[in-house]
Amino acid sequence: MADIIIIGGSIMGSSIAYHLAMTGRAGNICVIEPDPTYEWAAAPRSSGGVRLMHGLPENIEMSRYGREVYKDFARLMDVDGQPGSFEFLEHGYLYLVSGAKGVAAAEESWRIQTGCGVPNDFLDREALAARFPSLNVADVDAAIHGPQDGFIDPNAAVLGFRRKALSLGVEYIEDRVVDIEVSGGLARNVVLESGNKVAGDIIVNVAGAWGPKISAMVGMTVPVEPLSRNTFYFDIRGQIETMPLTNSPSGVTFRQEGAGFTAGQTDTNVPFGFDFSVKHHMFDEVFWPYLAHRVPAFEALQVKRGWAGHYAYNRMDGNTIIGKFIGGLDNFYVATGFTGAGLQKGPAIGRAMTELLLDGGYQTIDLSRMSYQRVIDEKPLLEVGFTA
Ligand SMILES: Cc1cc2nc3c(=O)[nH]c(=O)nc-3n(C[C@H](O)[C@H](O)[C@H](O)COP(=O)(O)OP(=O)(O)OC[C@H]3O[C@@H](n4cnc5c(N)ncnc54)[C@H](O)[C@@H]3O)c2cc1C
Repeated sequence: MADIIIIGGSIMGSSIAYHLAMTGRAGNICVIEPDPTYEWAAAPRSSGGVRLMHGLPENIEMSRYGREVYKDFARLMDVDGQPGSFEFLEHGYLYLVSGAKGVAAAEESWRIQTGCGVPNDFLDREALAARFPSLNVADVDAAIHGPQDGFIDPNAAVLGFRRKALSLGVEYIEDRVVDIEVSGGLARNVVLESGNKVAGDIIVNVAGAWGPKISAMVGMTVPVEPLSRNTFYFDIRGQIETMPLTNSPSGVTFRQEGAGFTAGQTDTNVPFGFDFSVKHHMFDEVFWPYLAHRVPAFEALQVKRGWAGHYAYNRMDGNTIIGKFIGGLDNFYVATGFTGAGLQKGPAIGRAMTELLLDGGYQTIDLSRMSYQRVIDEKPLLEVGFTA
């Protein structure tokens, strides 16, 4: 019997477990995670980007806490004098826009960011070219630059939270949830692939792109789908200035990775569903033309490897859904729909879920607008002027 069962033990599950355990008030916490290597989970396959560059105050505040935690991660995740090996690479984030509409939307988003005290810059083409001379800015009209943004090793983040949670007494069960038994308006038992059952007072579903199937087991429908996204690692000849994680509404995202670079693209035209195949032809047809155009030094790049990972893509508004199964079960909670920005929100979701479960409401960042109620009401909560 667990007081709290967490389904999925990647960045969300392990951060929730850690934050709960740190309070000393959560009782027995049990995480069900089938794969302690996290081979297929989204987190380790992500770009590791952490940015204060969002178009909603809630997202800015969540990432601010994420940045705070990740900057101090080695110390926070220390277990018996052994710090986690971890670095926050503060290389910045850059969002390029073109056309009057794009510039106006980005400017609106930037105003929200500065209104929240984020020291981001709004650059015109000349300032952009001066700051990043390797960029071809001929077709870029403006950019938001986030100097405090950066990226982390996402695998180390998952393993750091997990190791610390284990040290605080959290139990991890290596198994897969295949069913949830409901009676009297409550989720009672989690049924595992092994045939075992775990009973719990509260059940939290944070199984990423697999989460919607688990919510469906208790009759909860979420507008969230697995969306496959390819990432490639490449080397270039010679060197360019340190580049921020660079993004644009329609283009390919790229950032430095050690001596080389990674590049990815969110293509919402691919069919929803799990697809771990790597579309190498996409690199030649879509990625390379964009990269070579944007950074002429990328023309002579060499692709070394590629991989696919999955967004838990919120097709309603691309945003987080967190909280109780309103209108359903009083003890069933979800955190889902993180689309391309869950890694940076992991720490804040861990804290927010802890507040919901132990204090009955948010104590730090008010995420009420991100509850399941907006799904019931079909009222999207859209980011202003910024697509992830
Ligand atoms: C290519 C790519 C790039 C990204 N880049 C960024 C970025 O730069 N910045 C950022 O913030 N975010 C980024 N993201 C998004 C981020 O990775 C996700 O939002 C985040 O990892 C979600 O974490 P999670 O714990 O919810 O899901 P996951 O990390 O996917 O973990 C889900 C876990 O649930 C487990 N599970 C599955 N089925 C079951 C079951 N039946 N029972 C129990 N457990 C189960 C899985 O084994 C897995 O460990 C990116 C994502 C992708 C795919």
